[in-house]
Amino acid sequence: PAPLGPTPKLVIDLERLAQLPKEKAGALARYAATIQSQRGDYNGKVLSIRQEDLRSLAVIYDKSPNELTEELITWGVLDAEARRAVESF
Ligand code: C2E
Ligand code: C2E
Ligand code: C2E
Repeated sequence: PAPLGPTPKLVIDLERLAQLPKEKAGALARYAATIQSQRGDYNGKVLSIRQEDLRSLAVIYDKSPNELTEELITWGVLDAEARRAVESF
C-alpha cells in the first residue's frame, strides 16, 4: 500500500452487508439504508460514507472507531484501506 496519498474513503460493500446476519449487521444496514434514502442513491453496489458517520456507528456498536473498523474489515464490509481513513481521526 502507498504510504502517502489522499485519505481513502470509507466504502461500504452493500452486497456483502446484505449477506450478514441481522443480529450483527442490522444497525449498520439500517444506517446505510437511511443514507441511501437521503441521497436518493439506491442502485449502488457500494456506498461511500462520511468519516463522521463511522464515529456515530461506533457509538451505536459501543466500540471505538478503530475497533469497529477492524470488525467491519473482518466481516468484509470495508476493505483494509479503510484503516487509513480512521487513522486520521
Ligand atoms: P447536506 O449535508 O445539507 O448536504 C447537501 C448536499 O451537499 C448533498 O445532497 C450533497 O450533494 C452535498 N454534500 C454534502 N456533503 C458532501 C460530501 O461530503 N461529499 C459529497 N460528494 N457531497 C456532499 P444529497 O447527497 O442529496 O444529501 C442530502 C442530505 O442527506 C444531506 O444534506 C444530509 O443531510 C443527508 N446525507 C446524505 N448523505 C449523508 C451521509 O453520508 N451522512 C450523513 N450524516 N448525512 C447524509
Ligand atoms: P470514487 O468515489 O472512487 O467512486 C468509484 C465508483 O464507486 C463510482 O464510480 C461508483 O460506481 C462507486 N461508488 C462510490 N461511492 C458510491 C456511492 O456512495 N453510491 C454509489 N451508487 N456508487 C458509489 P462513478 O460513479 O463512475 O464515479 C467515478 C468517480 O467520480 C468517483 O470515484 C468520484 O471521484 C467522482 N464522483 C462521481 N460522483 C460524484 C459525486 O456525486 N460527488 C463527488 N464528489 N465525486 C463524484
Ligand atoms: P467526497 O465527495 O470525495 O468528499 C471527500 C471529503 O470532502 C468529505 O469527506 C468532506 O470532508 C469533504 N466534502 C466534500 N463535499 C463537501 C461538502 O459539500 N460539504 C462539506 N462540509 N464537506 C465536503 P467525508 O465527509 O468523510 O465523506 C466521504 C465521502 O462520503 C464523500 O467523498 C462522498 O463520496 C460521500 N458523501 C458524504 N456525504 C455525502 C452526501 O451528503 N451526499 C453524497 N452524495 N455523498 C456523500
